[in-house]
Amino acid sequence: MSISSEQIQYDQQHIWHPYSSMINPPAAYPVVAAQGVRLQLADGRELIDGMASWWSVIHGYNNAELNAAAHGQIDKMSHVMFGGITHQPAIDLCRQLVEMSAEPLQKVFLADSGSVAVEVALKMAIQYWHAKGKAEKHKLLTIRNGYHGDTFGAMSVCDPVTGMHEIFSGVLPQQFFAPAPQIKFGESWDEKDCAELEQLFVNHHNEIAALILEPIVQGAGGMRFYHPEYLKRARSLCDQYDVLLIADEIATGFGRSGKLFACDHADITPDILCLGKAITGGYMTLAATLTTTEVGETISAGGAGCFMHGPTFMGNPLACAVANASLKLLRESDWESNIARIEQQLKQGLAPCAELDSVAEVRCLGAIGVVEMKQPVVTAEIQPLFVEKGIWIRPFGKLVYVMPPYVMSDDDLQTLTAGMYEVIQQYTAEK
Ligand SMILES: *Cc1c(COP(=O)(O)O)cnc(C)c1O
Repeated sequence: MSISSEQIQYDQQHIWHPYSSMINPPAAYPVVAAQGVRLQLADGRELIDGMASWWSVIHGYNNAELNAAAHGQIDKMSHVMFGGITHQPAIDLCRQLVEMSAEPLQKVFLADSGSVAVEVALKMAIQYWHAKGKAEKHKLLTIRNGYHGDTFGAMSVCDPVTGMHEIFSGVLPQQFFAPAPQIKFGESWDEKDCAELEQLFVNHHNEIAALILEPIVQGAGGMRFYHPEYLKRARSLCDQYDVLLIADEIATGFGRSGKLFACDHADITPDILCLGKAITGGYMTLAATLTTTEVGETISAGGAGCFMHGPTFMGNPLACAVANASLKLLRESDWESNIARIEQQLKQGLAPCAELDSVAEVRCLGAIGVVEMKQPVVTAEIQPLFVEKGIWIRPFGKLVYVMPPYVMSDDDLQTLTAGMYEVIQQYTAEK
């Protein structure tokens, strides 16, 4: 199972990786297998995975139940179109999603990736107001430091600076941006934090279809944790000014923040909920957009008579079957105390990082641990240091962060956080 240097070179010369360059890209690490929380490199080394393959692999790699679900389904049918056809994996999955999410969310759209789930949410909001005879309500409101995906609609609501899409600003629809919440999770609340958000509602509610935000945890746009009261206020402003609330829980959903959904920290229900990433336990791409009966029926009663979206691979049975097994595993586990355990370990293990001169802040919430540096790190330089320590961490900008698989043991968490500390210390000492 080895990979030759010719193959690595081929990869460098021909294959795009996420946000990669075609001029002298650093060689990617060849992974030949993965088991539990460990990635196995082609040279035999094993790495403890701190990233859960970007929030998704919550039950660990090569999980027996998920494998069995995939095998069982692939022997029946991998795929069938969803137009005019239905199947048990989709029905079972949508039933689980409706049961797990807040009561008003009753209608499920199965999408192929997180970005598509966001596009679907935005289109639902716009079609909703169109159907109500208010077509002028087609703008979106969001908060800075957000990240909602890489497609055009999603890009338009990403932070114009940290959201990685600045180059496209001229072609993107212009949306309304409120400042990012400043009061952190766990600090004392100050009403001033949402003053500018409120002002945007006052001035522009007639043009705004929806407020879209990542509840409590802002992910790729800054790894920030904000005060639940902000979310509560956002919900009540939406009610007051007739604006839909879209919660993008693609990263936070399914326990990651310590609650099943991050909205639960504020006891609010969105009108539209986007889920993805961990939904299949990281086995394959799948996402979902849930909405209320009222939104679903209003859209359907409009001129179009239907919701205008339908991807080729919608409701892919193989992905649905694995997602069913993944959600079942989660629901049958004591995820709440397990996430609390991981949070405790991360807090304890990362606390020493706060003492380093190069570190601006250490913060942990649920199974998310963030070390924010004072200066950006160069990923190509720091990555090999992590690999030498036997851990897989992929920082970006000033953020060195982990969101491990939920099955990581205390010992492995200890190795992971100790390795983070040592690498950060070593890397910044050399600068
Ligand atoms: C990852 C992510 C997306 C995009 O999902 P993809 O599957 O990468 O398209 C959207 N919103 C949030 C909050 C995310 O973390």
